[in-house]
Amino acid sequence: MTGEHVLICVAWPYANGPLHLGHVAGCYLPPDIQARFERAKGNKVLMVSGSDEHGTPITVSAETNGISPQDVVDKYHAINSKALIDLGCSWEPNVDPRGVEYGGSLFNRTSDDDHHKIVSENFISLLNAGLFEKKVMQQYYEIREDGGRFLPDRYVEGDCPNCGESGARGDQCDECGVTYEAHELENPKSKMNPEATIEIRDTEHFFYRLDLFQEALEEHANQRQSVWKSNVKAMTKQWLDMGLRPRAVTRDLDWGIPLPMEGNEWDGKCIYVWFEAVQGYYSCAKLWSERYASEHDWEKWWKGDEQGGKPRHLYFLGKDNIPFHTVIWPALIMGLNHASKGLTANDKPSLPILGELQLEDNVPAMEYLMLAGGQFSKSRKHAVWLPSFLERFDPDTLRYYLSINMPENHDTDFNWPDFVEKINSELIAAYGNFVHRVLTLGARLPQGRGLESFEDLSFCNEEMVKLEDLHNEITASLEKHRYKEALRNVMRAAQLGNQMLQSATPWKYLKDLDGEGANVSMAKLSFGWRISRFLSIMTQPFLPFSAQKLWKALGEEGDVSKISWQSSIDWSTNFKWSDDVAEPLFKRLDLEEILAQEQDLASDNSDNNSDPTHAVKGSKKNKKKEEIIMPEGTTHLDFETFMEVELKVGKIMNVTDHENADKLFVVTIDDGTEDGRTICAGLKEYYTAEQMMGKSVVFVANLKPRKLRGVMSEGMMLAADDGKGGVTLVTLDGEISPGSQVR
Ligand SMILES: [Zn+2]
Repeated sequence: MTGEHVLICVAWPYANGPLHLGHVAGCYLPPDIQARFERAKGNKVLMVSGSDEHGTPITVSAETNGISPQDVVDKYHAINSKALIDLGCSWEPNVDPRGVEYGGSLFNRTSDDDHHKIVSENFISLLNAGLFEKKVMQQYYEIREDGGRFLPDRYVEGDCPNCGESGARGDQCDECGVTYEAHELENPKSKMNPEATIEIRDTEHFFYRLDLFQEALEEHANQRQSVWKSNVKAMTKQWLDMGLRPRAVTRDLDWGIPLPMEGNEWDGKCIYVWFEAVQGYYSCAKLWSERYASEHDWEKWWKGDEQGGKPRHLYFLGKDNIPFHTVIWPALIMGLNHASKGLTANDKPSLPILGELQLEDNVPAMEYLMLAGGQFSKSRKHAVWLPSFLERFDPDTLRYYLSINMPENHDTDFNWPDFVEKINSELIAAYGNFVHRVLTLGARLPQGRGLESFEDLSFCNEEMVKLEDLHNEITASLEKHRYKEALRNVMRAAQLGNQMLQSATPWKYLKDLDGEGANVSMAKLSFGWRISRFLSIMTQPFLPFSAQKLWKALGEEGDVSKISWQSSIDWSTNFKWSDDVAEPLFKRLDLEEILAQEQDLASDNSDNNSDPTHAVKGSKKNKKKEEIIMPEGTTHLDFETFMEVELKVGKIMNVTDHENADKLFVVTIDDGTEDGRTICAGLKEYYTAEQMMGKSVVFVANLKPRKLRGVMSEGMMLAADDGKGGVTLVTLDGEISPGSQVR
């Protein structure tokens, strides 16, 4: 469809540090690809996001560093918004170059006074509609001579009531992941003043009545079952199945939007960050409208247009943020609609109709991009941080790598050898070399007999049909948010071009342009120009910088991002040519050079034992804290995904009882490496330690290591389970050395 209003909502980066590559792959690159694609199709796109600048992690950073919270957010808002623009994300200009009716973008910040104002108005209208209730909570209070203060959960530290680890937060333990009530924490102390006396006191807060929206949200989720990805369905179901309860929208903290209420009893309290930052999607659209368009333009993207067209809402975020966007934010949107109709808590909420604020049409949430090794995340100078990466590399190389490696259905991993390999042997070998060949061979033709004079499409019917098929497939993939699949098909067009040139051998005819067979061969080379033009338009959403460079090298004028998507297969467009000497689109990368640079950066940061080669290969030590893998619904698995599971042969060398878990063995396996590996296995009901010793088994080698009751388990042995109590290990039919691949 063209001419549709598409609202692209991008998760708000938290302004407490620079963005890293995981953020980019999960939240910031996919919406930019989508926005560019939708625009090329002729849709009217408004893209909104900004820095999320309130909340306690920021005040903790500020207090720890002796600066103000405003200093913290000013710094990171500047760094992150610049990095996103350097990456080619279309946050500039604010108005679409085709005209304001086509929309534009706004990357705002939650400390913006106008955002405060809009959130305060919404707060009052929800309050007046009776959608809040008041409740008393218990909160730690730090007693000080100057009056003392309530301590948000992050300001309290103690021993975890579950695992006993020290340094656990007021409401959650980072070590074992358990959450609990503040009073359950053992040996609680104020993080900032460990010597101060603290006690639990009552404090009154407003709660949003999420419970009122349970039924409407269930209905909404049912309507989305054929659209949502399995991780989105599973997470949303989990939340709705638990039953929604009122959720606090205010807290005891200075740094945030003050409560728009009269009376001293609300002093020192602010609107909870979750409640206001999420409203940024709405405030940003309104503010974009006020600042760059006209006052009511935002409504076309939020409520519908004059022709009765419904806007399409897409939200881009990481998997940790799913319920926020499928449950909580829709409940707030429905609450605002409810209040604007003059309804109250006694009336039944309903799903929006056209003309009211609309709910999401899809939340194509990503899994995680993991950063191999722990050292990456320690030092700010290290290359996994987006700003420093962009200082050293072409942004399109990162966009290519993260797109082809996007964590769409499962976690993926960033490491340097793979990065270099994919850039050199895919991006450059297939795409870069093909277009360079076409341009340089074309440049060797004499004046008056340039490529255009050899154009004869009748020799290229087969190639045209193939490109049209690829075009359809790429479009269909992007409409379904399958970015990897789309980019792979773009690369197929480049491969098709390479194969065409390889069999046409135009270089043989350059000296004898009138010889036998020259006309067919040169017609193919000439069609190479059309394939390159196709590639420039098709790569534009993914690789905007090189797409533009190629566009110019082909002799085309203006901005390729303004060219229609369909024009890539319009064979009747005029042939153009530029006499400028074509520069290669990309520079080859050298792994050794990069690793040496990494080494320098690491030693600059005086990290002891910094060995980047270790880190990038994913050393077993120093693993990043594991994230929870969401249950995936059963779907067909593509072959590529299956092949990412690394199965290997191992020999059981030692079996001992797990000290803290009655049902687990701790198994040491010879996996063909010097150190071997440790796997925790729940096989005690089925095997004795002696029975297991010496067996050759099959194990999953690239499963994310995880700690099971204090023992790091580095994989999983395969076992068959008949569902009736019979379990037996998968063993081998013959001898083969440990470490062998299983396929
Ligand atoms: Zn714990």
